[in-house]
Amino acid sequence: MFSFIRTGCRAILEVLFPRCCMACGCKLQEEEQVVCADCVATLPRTEHTLLEQNGVDMLFQQLFKDEKCRVRYERGMAFAYYNRGRGKNLRALIERGKFGNHPHPQVFYMLGRLAAQEYIDVDLWDDIDVIVPVPLHPKRLRARGFNQAEWIGRGLSDVLHIPMDTEHLVRTRNNPHQSRSRFEKRKDNVQDVFSVRYPEEWKNKHLLLVDDVITSGSTMLACMKQTTPIRGCRISVFALGWAHN
Ligand SMILES: [Zn+2]
Repeated sequence: MFSFIRTGCRAILEVLFPRCCMACGCKLQEEEQVVCADCVATLPRTEHTLLEQNGVDMLFQQLFKDEKCRVRYERGMAFAYYNRGRGKNLRALIERGKFGNHPHPQVFYMLGRLAAQEYIDVDLWDDIDVIVPVPLHPKRLRARGFNQAEWIGRGLSDVLHIPMDTEHLVRTRNNPHQSRSRFEKRKDNVQDVFSVRYPEEWKNKHLLLVDDVITSGSTMLACMKQTTPIRGCRISVFALGWAHN
């Protein structure tokens, strides 16, 4: 009886408020969550894991050289192109998920899970001890209500069964909105923005640093720099979007 009423209510709600794909706006099928199957299938994967050294690795190696810093970097990947062709879908998803009328953390969780499921067998995750999302400043966290990197991390963590750590890496300064900053200015904006609490906890640990998009790489670099004094601490990186061609 109750399940009959529940099904009826759900059907009425579906008619009044149809669930729509966050990328293309089409009506979602019952089994689809947040994004339609077609949009999921057409996200332009970078296939970074097939390359000996991919764009993410090269970007960070160059930044370490430019900034003369000694990060114990292992490897990295981004899941899909952020700007290219149908990659606009990924951009739309990330922007609507973060800034839309109804910001939606579930989209980040879903994409984190998807990436982990698709690449479950690659060595990117090998011997990772802990997933560390790039933190938001508490002020911005309060304004948005969630940290998208944390939800991506949660999706990865649930599939890969690797714990997530949101306690040790903290953002101590709230920098201006990055997407509105110019590239060079952005670089300065993130210097000394992060710090690590109880760094000894990360001794000899291999961290997977997670963010939504890699553009200049300066945000992740600023996080990584904080780990250089920690003995034996190694870093790999993962992002959903790769804003380079
Ligand atoms: Zn769609």
